[in-house]
Amino acid sequence: MESDLVNLTIVKYGTNLTLISISLSSTIADLKNHANLALDSCLDIGNYIYENSTVLKNIPDIRKKRIFEIIPSKRAIGGGGVPLLFNSMEKPLMLNFAQTASEWNRLGKGMNLSGICVNSACQAFNLFVHCPKGFGKFNMSKEVHKTGCPKCNKNVKDCNNVFFFLCKYTVEGLIQGETMERKYSKTIDDQDEFETFENKDEDLKNWEYLEIEVSSLN
Ligand SMILES: [Zn+2]
Repeated sequence: MESDLVNLTIVKYGTNLTLISISLSSTIADLKNHANLALDSCLDIGNYIYENSTVLKNIPDIRKKRIFEIIPSKRAIGGGGVPLLFNSMEKPLMLNFAQTASEWNRLGKGMNLSGICVNSACQAFNLFVHCPKGFGKFNMSKEVHKTGCPKCNKNVKDCNNVFFFLCKYTVEGLIQGETMERKYSKTIDDQDEFETFENKDEDLKNWEYLEIEVSSLN
């Protein structure tokens, strides 16, 4: 007798992420829950499951083709899901380096994130820390949960602002409630300055998705 289970590969942004097994009698809602668990994702994939650009309607439809593609929709998405609360990057500030900085406030070339250390055994406990990330392509929904204090390496809280130094970066993302994806690039090439963003409450926005690609200048 044929097994009721079907194995599916979940693909996101062109990268094979994980393999999940699901029963053919499952619903698409079950599949989304499975996928979110498997991906350890905060991303609502509610509207994002496609097979050859067609939104999947039920599991038996896809038993032959076992590759899933999760593509962020460019349409505004109402309700559901857990968006990423992160700086809108609308109010850039070019700042000079301080004469002295604690070892947990040093910026590296490329992208740096910030947060508050929550480890009471760490010298930087309750302090604002900078976490160098360098170069690469960053899925920010994941990145904010993988950002450790530079002193103790424990995950920081309030990781919601970004600092760029001597790099070129490209932002690609969708803010909740908006219909147009934001996509632009910028070069930060002054040795004496770095870029960050005003970070008051009103500067934080819910991103449906946010990807930042950072490359070196030469
Ligand atoms: Zn720490």
